[in-house]
Amino acid sequence: RKLLADTDPELWDVVQKEYRRQEDHIELIASENYTSPAVLQAQGSVLTNKYAEGYPGKRYYGGCEFVDMAEQLAIDRVKQLFGAEYANVQPHSGSQANAAVYMAMLQPGDTILGMSLAHGGHLTHGASVNFSGKLYKSVSYGLHPDTERIDYDEVERLAQEHKPKMIVAGASAYSMVIDWTRFRAIADSIGAYLMVDMAHYAGLIAAGEYPSPVGIAHFVTSTTHKTLRGPRGGIILSSAEFEKPINSMIFPGIQGGPLMHVIAAKATAFNEALKPEFKSYQKRVKANAQAMAETFIERGLRIVSGGTESHLFLMDLRARQITGKAAEALLGRANITVNKNAIPNDPEKPFVTSGIRIGSPALTTRGFGHNEARKVSHLISDLLEAPEDDSVLQHVLKEVGTLCQRHPVYR
Ligand code: PLP
Repeated sequence: RKLLADTDPELWDVVQKEYRRQEDHIELIASENYTSPAVLQAQGSVLTNKYAEGYPGKRYYGGCEFVDMAEQLAIDRVKQLFGAEYANVQPHSGSQANAAVYMAMLQPGDTILGMSLAHGGHLTHGASVNFSGKLYKSVSYGLHPDTERIDYDEVERLAQEHKPKMIVAGASAYSMVIDWTRFRAIADSIGAYLMVDMAHYAGLIAAGEYPSPVGIAHFVTSTTHKTLRGPRGGIILSSAEFEKPINSMIFPGIQGGPLMHVIAAKATAFNEALKPEFKSYQKRVKANAQAMAETFIERGLRIVSGGTESHLFLMDLRARQITGKAAEALLGRANITVNKNAIPNDPEKPFVTSGIRIGSPALTTRGFGHNEARKVSHLISDLLEAPEDDSVLQHVLKEVGTLCQRHPVYR
């Protein structure tokens, strides 16, 4: 039985290079994480071979008795994890989860009110370049210019003015706690649905480290691969009354056969998230993000919204005279991976930006604690203070290498 290394050494080499990159670089991309070997194993299993259009017990193919069990485990575990009445674990991605909720509940041309991409929302929350902004009339809210917190008064005003059929809460680059209850009250005041996209916060929410929108929003969507630390994919949660329209919009509405290997990997990730260790992991994720943000502030860097109550934050680089794009490249040379990110009212173009987004989930998974988190912030601050100084770069590279060696991901 030949394995990848024998049959396709060219591709195997690429996989090995990516493996080494993940081991040797400090990963600060807030939407990424390292799954457990068990999740990798489930996703690499023979379940990838199985077609299973439909839902457990109601399939359009024979031979589904075992994948039915895998999907039922995923459904039962995620319902338990978040205290939800109903779950669909088939969305191939977070974007597809959001698409399914919109398409199940709205007609093309209906109005949605979501967080602006430029202020931290996701593409699927109504951005003009995305299906959500093309298919629906999209209105956006953002952050208050003084506090850099979500401007709930603006949300309320826009809701009253535009009467959206759906309000979308949740974000890709917002560090503070979101007031789900306030969003629901605004939605109720105009008879709108509330959808919360908790993709970024899902792991923290599962562990009780961030307020849960389940039971508050009509629909909760999420990815499974960020703080939740599962395989790449999506889920939809809601009360039992929406089971029918959501199930039939995922299949046959917008998807064909579910990815049973990914659903199996979701099942085992949810099982991991139900364990006490996951709670302590998420506590450390939050503590590490806070330690990093505080260190940056001590070093004179500005953090959008003034800090973090989650796993991530945005750094405003304007005072350092370096763009987000240049900072991403500079840190990349030191084996520190971040993404450039627009800050609120960013004067730079979206491909350049004035900020970077920093997240703690991945470094916490590999075992970095408070001291290592602070150290990483100091190393980044050193680089940003002397972007042209090769001796600083060499020093940081060495320190990053030592930290990574001390805390292997998979070895
Ligand atoms: N929703 C939010 C808030 C996100 O941040 C993301 C991804 O970054 C998504 C949805 C989309 O997920 P996917 O990339 O799986 O489509």
